Amino acid sequence: MKSSIQNHKSGASYDAIVVGGGIHGCSTALHLAKRGLSVLVIEKNTVGRHASGVNAGGVRQLLRDFAEIPLSMAAMEKWFHLESLLGLELASTCHFIGDVGQIGVAGDSGEMAWCEKRVREMRSRGYEFEELLDREQIRKLLPNVSDQAVGGIMSRRDGHANPARSTQAFRLRAEQFGAVFEEGVRVTGLQQSGNRWVVETSSGTRSAQVVVNCGGAWATQLARMAGDEIPCETVGYTLMVTARLPKFIDTVVVGIDRTLSFKQTESGTVVIGGGVPAIVDMVNETSETVADRMVESASTVLDFFPYLRNAPVVRTWGGLEALAPDTIPILGPSEGASGIWHAFGFSGHGFQLAPIVGSVLADLIVDGKSAFSLAAFSPNRFSPEAVAAVGNLH
Ligand SMILES: Cc1cc2nc3c(=O)[nH]c(=O)nc-3n(C[C@H](O)[C@H](O)[C@H](O)COP(=O)(O)OP(=O)(O)OC[C@H]3O[C@@H](n4cnc5c(N)ncnc54)[C@H](O)[C@@H]3O)c2cc1C
Repeated sequence: MKSSIQNHKSGASYDAIVVGGGIHGCSTALHLAKRGLSVLVIEKNTVGRHASGVNAGGVRQLLRDFAEIPLSMAAMEKWFHLESLLGLELASTCHFIGDVGQIGVAGDSGEMAWCEKRVREMRSRGYEFEELLDREQIRKLLPNVSDQAVGGIMSRRDGHANPARSTQAFRLRAEQFGAVFEEGVRVTGLQQSGNRWVVETSSGTRSAQVVVNCGGAWATQLARMAGDEIPCETVGYTLMVTARLPKFIDTVVVGIDRTLSFKQTESGTVVIGGGVPAIVDMVNETSETVADRMVESASTVLDFFPYLRNAPVVRTWGGLEALAPDTIPILGPSEGASGIWHAFGFSGHGFQLAPIVGSVLADLIVDGKSAFSLAAFSPNRFSPEAVAAVGNLH
């Protein structure tokens, strides 16, 4: 196994360079290295420092955009068989717990009607894994839920994993297959030279035939270095966590039309989120939580689970993510820059997809084909108007 920290000579060359050491960069590196390519991952901070290390760890198929469902279902299989991807020891460090289910709780008849329509639409498309729950069923599954819950929608296979440990596990497995990681090195430019890319960094140049942009909230900047204008906004999401509580719930709970999402971890802490926006600070490359933004999240949790009224909140934090205009990821090759691939814009739900996205990208890069179509995720799917409309581009 190669050491993760090496003194790389400027000018070192690889088959593939992955920019970004989040879970998507690590998964892509792992799958490319497994296929025999020499791979370098360049990370400006530390592996897992951003969204991949701080997210809520939700591993869900529930309520996915229809375009994402085939990938999400395949990703779920990989989560259930992590040992064949990561080896037994590393797989166990991810703390993946499946089959506990995720439930979208409907708080009124309007949300319930939406759930009914969603399940009908899923069935008409041939998907059976989301099921409707009535008032009685939801009470059986969530004994502490308040009378505000009128029903809901459930995906029974769903669960959760530890995000920081999972990202490290993918990184360590990639290293076992020979991928090299450089941390604290920032990519500053991309220049095409014949059929290779010269990657300019804060520590000299590296080169590769293929560059995969897994830059998360910074990925639009990286895309621009290759001449691609892709309209994603940078958003921050907020989480808070309680002290350890006696076990009261296995299932992950999310809102239908409310900022509600929580799960109880193995240690007893309850992680509460649901898409509450954090304040984005791109100058310092971080995000901040502010008290007034947590009010809605806390009060929705209490509406449905008064049991948590006195739970001590011990910490809040935020994470940065690229949000695509249509909230589904940007996956695939650049149209104009041969050898550049993009994988970002996961819009707040990319953690679950990581095991499959890296695999599909490796198939496409190495074999030129994959069992999955990425057409819906094309980096070129946005109109010039959508590109122009996103303020953070210029
Ligand atoms: C608070 C929160 C909760 C979430 N909850 C869930 C959830 O429950 N379930 C779920 O499926 N998803 C969830 N997500 C979304 C999920 O975390 C992300 O979709 C996923 O982690 C994205 O992974 P990534 O590797 O693409 O990006 P990141 O983890 O952001 O990694 C990108 C990396 O690229 C590096 N980088 C960028 N530019 C450069 C450069 N120029 N040079 C070198 N390195 C660079 C960055 O430093 C960063 O480390 C959540 C996100 C947040 C923020």
